[in-house]
Amino acid sequence: MLSGFAICPGLFYATPAADGILSRVRIPGGIISSQQCRAIADIADQYGGGYVDVTNRANLQVREIRTEINAEVLKHLQDMGLGSGNSVVDQIRNIMTSPTAGIDPQELIDTRPFVQGWDDYIAAHPALSELSAKFSVCFDGGGIIRVGDRLNDIAFAAVLVDGNVYFRLYLSVGEKGQPPSDTGILLPPEECLPVLAALADVYLAHSHTTSRRRLRFLELLNTLGCENYLQEVEQRLPFSLLCSEIKKDLTLQPLQKKGEKFSTLVQREGKYQHIGIHPQRQQGLFYIGVVLPLGRLESRQMRGLADLAAKYGSGNLRLTPWQNLLLTDIPWQWVADVQSEIAFLGLDSSATNIKSALVACSGRKGCAASATDTKSHALALAEYLETRMILDCPVNIHFSGCEKSCAQHSKSDITLLGVSIEAENETVERYHVYVGDSKQKFGRELYQYVTFAELPALIERMLYVYKIQRLNSDESFGEFANRYALTQLQQLFNIIPKSFVNNKIPDFLEKLGI
Ligand code: SF4
Repeated sequence: MLSGFAICPGLFYATPAADGILSRVRIPGGIISSQQCRAIADIADQYGGGYVDVTNRANLQVREIRTEINAEVLKHLQDMGLGSGNSVVDQIRNIMTSPTAGIDPQELIDTRPFVQGWDDYIAAHPALSELSAKFSVCFDGGGIIRVGDRLNDIAFAAVLVDGNVYFRLYLSVGEKGQPPSDTGILLPPEECLPVLAALADVYLAHSHTTSRRRLRFLELLNTLGCENYLQEVEQRLPFSLLCSEIKKDLTLQPLQKKGEKFSTLVQREGKYQHIGIHPQRQQGLFYIGVVLPLGRLESRQMRGLADLAAKYGSGNLRLTPWQNLLLTDIPWQWVADVQSEIAFLGLDSSATNIKSALVACSGRKGCAASATDTKSHALALAEYLETRMILDCPVNIHFSGCEKSCAQHSKSDITLLGVSIEAENETVERYHVYVGDSKQKFGRELYQYVTFAELPALIERMLYVYKIQRLNSDESFGEFANRYALTQLQQLFNIIPKSFVNNKIPDFLEKLGI
């Protein structure tokens, strides 16, 4: 039986949503077996809407649940390793790591044992159920596919110093919505889990667990001050955080300065490189990054991918925080076959697919707070763009139904923020358009109150101008936009003759029934 409703969903903590009950299955590190996939696909068919959504923490969500999932079924799922081994801590946020942990040719350290270690620790310590459900932890192994820029309370990022691997400790401090900041603390790998346990313990010692709303880690850190918090952490440890002999004389690389945000690093490395075919660190084996349109997977597609993983790979799939997934451990001679079977399932593995970096929150159908029908609009935009242009690199376009930004907390190239206005006694959906980077949450506001009918042609012009005006193929849309003042960008996006798009708008609108 579902254990009542909660603000943050888990397998044992159902949450009501606009489209029914929502159940979220924690998948630590996003690594899921074929059998587990099939079991969740069955749940989605029997109880939910016949599909699952991959979230931005590499969880799986079953939506539109109308009938209660009984205790026996939940126990069966738990026995299969789904959800937490201890249901009282099941609502704590999923543990994040790179989806290529252990297979990334450039990673410094395989982070999977750290994910498993922290998950086991949580399950063995029911007192941690008093943590904020949003208490979030990330391990970044320093490979090609980085996750350190995702919003987490605590991030451990591997670095190489004098030939040895350490983790730098990043904490969420300062303004809400920012990636964690570098504390300057360097930890040998074996110190990470004790430090994490001490960080959680200090939180518990200071949070007021009687109140329904638990303090966020960031709020507590801001109140106590980072130095004070870390002093209390250190008092709980048998080793020193800041002054151990091994750390004294280390020379830090220029990218790793105290206080620097992890996002700076990731922007230099590039995102969405996991889509498509890539060699693994294991010779002769490859992984294939599969595009899931807006993170959604029909149950039949999920079973199909589970079969492919079992038949050609190691039987595991990796869910990504970019709401896509990887099939791993595929020998080279089977790669082409797997690709055509992916296509047969109605999915794609091309990085130039506009949907590879398209993100949308649940929108009006799934969330009462949404001003716009984000998911339908995002898919309609993708369909429009696919017939008109080919992108040679992913452009991250994020639709958000309100300022909360559930689908993507990190900055995107283009953010479309839904707003509704009253016009002639009608509520009309509009979008504010943001680009690139700035101190503002979504980037710089370029246009206000754009109707959905205007949006596809506008985005087409923006992408077209980006393609011809960018410095080189490595320059992302966001970096390109950052080079110009807003007025210059508006001029640039207006220089395309109206005929470039106007003659194509009517058939698009007709298709949408507008
Ligand atoms: S971003 Fe806002 S509208 Fe979208 S799912 Fe979250 S709360 Fe709902």
